[in-house]
Amino acid sequence: MFTDTHCHIFSEYYSQDKVLELVEQAKNQGVTKLINNGTDSRTNREVLLLSQKYENIYPAIGIHPEVTEYIEDDYIFIEKNISSIVAIGEIGLDYHYDNIDKELQRKIFKRQLDIAQKQNKPVIIHSRDATKDTIDILKEFPGLKGIIHCFTGSLETADEYIKMGFKLGMNGVITFKNSKFRDILKNIPLESIVLETDSPYLSPEPVRGTRNEPANIVHIAKFIAEVKGITVDELSKITEKNVEDIFDI
Ligand SMILES: [Zn+2]
Repeated sequence: MFTDTHCHIFSEYYSQDKVLELVEQAKNQGVTKLINNGTDSRTNREVLLLSQKYENIYPAIGIHPEVTEYIEDDYIFIEKNISSIVAIGEIGLDYHYDNIDKELQRKIFKRQLDIAQKQNKPVIIHSRDATKDTIDILKEFPGLKGIIHCFTGSLETADEYIKMGFKLGMNGVITFKNSKFRDILKNIPLESIVLETDSPYLSPEPVRGTRNEPANIVHIAKFIAEVKGITVDELSKITEKNVEDIFDI
């Protein structure tokens, strides 16, 4: 059994019929739980509605760093729905593009970490080209737990996050032919790894280039098990235990 700890099952990517098919295909591959991550006020509402329809799609809601303005109602919405969600996410910092408002991103990130800390909710974090600020800000909110999603950083960075109580989300990126992550992965403790697809993005090898789906967790699992020299079953037991350590699902 597997949990896809990070996907985006939104109507803009998957039609209603497709969601049913995608859930069935995932189940057939042993991917029995999906954590659906909202990214803005519209998708957060969608995520909550979809979870009422499918008991194995768990809702995480949050405001992604790509938004361009601060709207206090978005955070009041998260607070109001806190008891219905399994995590606050996807939240974080993304300094990849030019002309971004880093100050605004940090404000939005901190506002949500504050809710998570006060309400004792896990967080699902996106951090791109912003490792130092992410770590510095997380240190302002001790006691949080959650996932650093799409982790491809150094062993030193991995250690820092692990020490703070976070697990590292691994997805298709690590399976890409040009990825240099294999050697780092060898040294990351299994107890700190959780699996994710980031569907519809980042399809793993050997289905790279197609629209991603939660069923593709199996390709990521096979890759990690091979690098770690264990069976997929053994990996599944450990990563599911890791999921239970973070989420109440
Ligand atoms: Zn994502």
